[in-house]
Amino acid sequence: AMPNMTPYEKKFNELLKQNEILIFANSMPDTYKIKDVFYRLGVKPAVYSLEDETDGDEIQQVIKEKTNTNNLPQVFVQGTNLGGHDEVMEHFESGKLSQLVKGSSDANEISQYDYDLVVVGGGSGGLAAAKEAATLGRTVALCDFVKPTPMGTTWGLGGTCVNVGCIPKKLMHQASIHAENHHDSSSFGWNFHTSDGHHTWETMVENVQNYIKSLNFGYRKELNKRKVKYLNAYAEFVAPHKLKLTNKKGEVSEVSAKDIIIAVGGRPAYPNVPGAKEFCITSDDLFSLSKPPGKTLIVGASYIALECGGFLKGLGYDVTIMVRSILLRGFDRQIADLIGEHMEKIGIKFVKEYEPIGFNKTNEGKIKVAAKSKKGDEIVVSGFDTVVLAIGREACTGKLGLENLPNLKINPKNKKIIVDEFERSSVPHVYAIGDVIDGKPELTPVAIHAGKYLAQRICGVHNKTTNYKQVPTTVFTPLEYGTVGLSEEEAFNIFGKENIVVYHNAFKPLEHALSREDTLGYAKLICVKSLEELVVGFHVLSPNAGEITQGYAIALKLNAKKSDFDDLIGIHPTCAEIFTTLSRVKNPEDKPPETTAC
Ligand code: FAD
Repeated sequence: AMPNMTPYEKKFNELLKQNEILIFANSMPDTYKIKDVFYRLGVKPAVYSLEDETDGDEIQQVIKEKTNTNNLPQVFVQGTNLGGHDEVMEHFESGKLSQLVKGSSDANEISQYDYDLVVVGGGSGGLAAAKEAATLGRTVALCDFVKPTPMGTTWGLGGTCVNVGCIPKKLMHQASIHAENHHDSSSFGWNFHTSDGHHTWETMVENVQNYIKSLNFGYRKELNKRKVKYLNAYAEFVAPHKLKLTNKKGEVSEVSAKDIIIAVGGRPAYPNVPGAKEFCITSDDLFSLSKPPGKTLIVGASYIALECGGFLKGLGYDVTIMVRSILLRGFDRQIADLIGEHMEKIGIKFVKEYEPIGFNKTNEGKIKVAAKSKKGDEIVVSGFDTVVLAIGREACTGKLGLENLPNLKINPKNKKIIVDEFERSSVPHVYAIGDVIDGKPELTPVAIHAGKYLAQRICGVHNKTTNYKQVPTTVFTPLEYGTVGLSEEEAFNIFGKENIVVYHNAFKPLEHALSREDTLGYAKLICVKSLEELVVGFHVLSPNAGEITQGYAIALKLNAKKSDFDDLIGIHPTCAEIFTTLSRVKNPEDKPPETTAC
């Protein structure tokens, strides 16, 4: 011991000896943030609160002598001063903190693999998992490679959502809303109509694509910062722990890992019909199309088909949608039909119960489509400049070398990977997340959540699993549709028709009151009688439906009853307030009631 040590220095040294991780704290929020970071690493720091302890001032004096700073909090790990909030956050993000708190035993273990973890696929799920695992101190590599579409379209890091999904889709939906609002504005006294407004496709595409490029760049930077090795190459299993990588130039290398996460997502399906790949595009091409699409046929009835048809119509294009059977399979039937009716009302043409059997080009360069009905009738629809196929998506498992993982179980019907609640496949060190897994919602926030939790479990932070139930979602059709929980049909199946009561009402969005005659807003709550009217389904057709649904979704998560909605006081005047006053009981065949102004 040092000869001239003050009692406070002694106390300080004792504290460091007794507590592997020690925060000298004040009551500032930074202390809570630092504590949270340690909790995320699965360790509990000791906290010495200088404001509460009688010797707080004296101890702070000692800290100042040792660290040359008055700043609080100050963090010590195994007796060494790490610094304050900023330094701890930096160490956390670079993965250093995790290595420190795990001590030396882990770090000295020599691994037989190149990486602790390799993630295959740099989309929503893969990026989230890779970043989290690296932050938690693992050595991580991420492979991402985009195979060009038959038309040659390709894109950067970030996967479907950023490049050819949610982001460009929502931006183009927004472009079409601008047209509606512009049209409405004259009723509000604006005079933008001196010249005929028209839309320039090329400008929109250029700006959307530039925005996407900035996101691609951001993801690369983020991986770099977190020390995730980015491998821009196509990965295939050659052995259970080993992947073959092929880059754009055709150069081949190999990488091995202790754990592997498959996050390869899906790509648009092509029908096995002559001319499909030659003459048609998919959503993978649409958002970067260099020329305006012109007269367009959309084939399909998924949300992707209807959203694309919706915004193209809003931008002024002639749109036809060819549908094999029903719209929006899996969604609430009544709502799906209301969306379809609205789309017809705004001038979108539907060819119902037909399926394409061949595509060809006419001498005038237009696309001609032969189609067949269920009954066997054949028709030809012609004159299209663009045909967009949106008939579904296929999991990217076909060329992943899965034959080299003989025990990996996939669903033979859709080629998706079967995982347990821990996103573990039937091969213990191989996991899967996102669109590639069987039986789960194909949505970006779902993939991100699963990726993050999976990485935390692999790193031993906790054992929590992703809850795939009550996932809110929104369909960005011209009439936006937000929903969480069950459809009427699902609720009837699960709880019995007699046990379900549905409350609904229609409303006129105030933002349209001056300018639109036949505007529709619609709200529906599905409740279980025997469970004190527990709300199990929430449905809204409204402007900004996604914003409304995100908020109310927490109510369903927390098992809200109809009476909780009734007790809630609305925000006036909004569309969302309708849910606080629903009193009409809906019979299964009922249509939305006539609207009255509020
Ligand atoms: P992806 O994002 O598809 O990423 C997989 C990545 O892996 C891709 O980059 C792929 O090229 C790469 N890859 C594949 N195989 C390999 C291999 N062998 N080696 C290396 N790399 C490989 N979701 C929402 O939540 N909201 C929306 O509004 C929404 N709109 C959408 C609109 C459209 C038009 C589409 C198509 C999808 C939309 N989605 C939306 C769905 C969302 O995009 C997906 O759920 C999400 O991207 C899935 O993430 P993922 O990580 O599973 O896969």
